[in-house]
Amino acid sequence: MLPMVLLIGAGGVGTPAALALALSGRCRLRLVDDDEVELSNLHRQILYTEADLGRSKLEALKGALEARAVGVEIEAIPGRFLPETALELLAGVSLVVDGADNFATRFLASDACGLAGVPVVHGAALQWRATCFVAGSEGKRPCYRCLFEDLPAGPAPDCGTAGVLGPVCGVSGGLAAEAALRWLGGDRSQAGTMASFDGSTGRFRRIEVRPRRGCLLCGEEPGIRGLERARYTGAACGA
Ligand SMILES: [Zn+2]
Repeated sequence: MLPMVLLIGAGGVGTPAALALALSGRCRLRLVDDDEVELSNLHRQILYTEADLGRSKLEALKGALEARAVGVEIEAIPGRFLPETALELLAGVSLVVDGADNFATRFLASDACGLAGVPVVHGAALQWRATCFVAGSEGKRPCYRCLFEDLPAGPAPDCGTAGVLGPVCGVSGGLAAEAALRWLGGDRSQAGTMASFDGSTGRFRRIEVRPRRGCLLCGEEPGIRGLERARYTGAACGA
């Protein structure tokens, strides 16, 4: 049986990532999202058309993928990725691609994967910048909290207010899918690295992320041992 990839978010990063993964023929997909297709999404969420406006992204994405990748196995699970459901959604999953559009979900994805020992790739895009961070082995060391310690205290920019270039989302989704396929194929060379593309200069770079001393998730004395809801209330941001 092919490995299962959980894709969080059917937005600007999630749709190109999902297409590449579905067409690879190397995995099954479990999709989770709770949003509907809006006109302002169409420039970056490349599998939706005007005919999909008002439809659930989950249904539209599943249909678009099945039409293009015949035979692909897709589980579409409506709703958000929440502290209460996270571990259940990770059951049987070999790898997570996080294409969430807010910090709260991103930190939750990281913590849930770290606790469950599931590898995770985080893709994000905002304005001109696309990033893709591949956590260390089994979703930690280094983890997303080694990069960004905790949720931002105040409001963070999001694509609706700060904007994002459509192709920049495609870069992030492509990098995330590529990292996922490498990982599933046994290549760990990108573990613990962050790729970043700046569309305003065309520059691409990859850095090694150092494990953070005292990291709440993967440090010597981790403070995170469960997924308490209060920890994941935060401002929106991202793709
Ligand atoms: Zn960490």
